[in-house]
Amino acid sequence: MVGTNKLLTSPTTRLEVAGSARKTEVAQHLDDAIIAAATQSAINAWAGAGLNSADLAKLQKVKVSVRDLNASGANPNLLGAQVSEAQIVLDDNAAGRGWSVRTSGEMKANRVDLISAIAHELGHVLGLDHTPVAADVMAEQLAVGERHLPTAADLAAIDALFATDDPATL
Ligand SMILES: [Zn+2]
Repeated sequence: MVGTNKLLTSPTTRLEVAGSARKTEVAQHLDDAIIAAATQSAINAWAGAGLNSADLAKLQKVKVSVRDLNASGANPNLLGAQVSEAQIVLDDNAAGRGWSVRTSGEMKANRVDLISAIAHELGHVLGLDHTPVAADVMAEQLAVGERHLPTAADLAAIDALFATDDPATL
């Protein structure tokens, strides 16, 4: 958790949907505008938690792409992953549950919140690992109908990534 700085993807940095709601294999309409709007909302959530301008600029450069992450059958619950330092990928239909793509008002209660999933993957870009608290943005599962946004505690965890490093020497 805190003190490690895993930037590249590994099995432990993948976001999964919780539970076993009814699934569909129907592809969802997710165009660039929808992804851009949800990504900006996720970045705004990090800004709202107090993220500094340098890190916000880093998040603005992250490339977000969409593909069918469940096609192989290896992980039917996979929602998203960080695939490189500045690139994240999201499943095309929220592991069959469907994304809630709304960026204002309430999310759709029977879907998976796209903003929360992007905010989670952006947390990995910032160096965060998963936390064991189910309500945290960095929890490794996101349940249908739930929204998990960054908090001041997540910012403290980012600060701790650097605070625990050895003293710098010149
Ligand atoms: Zn993750």
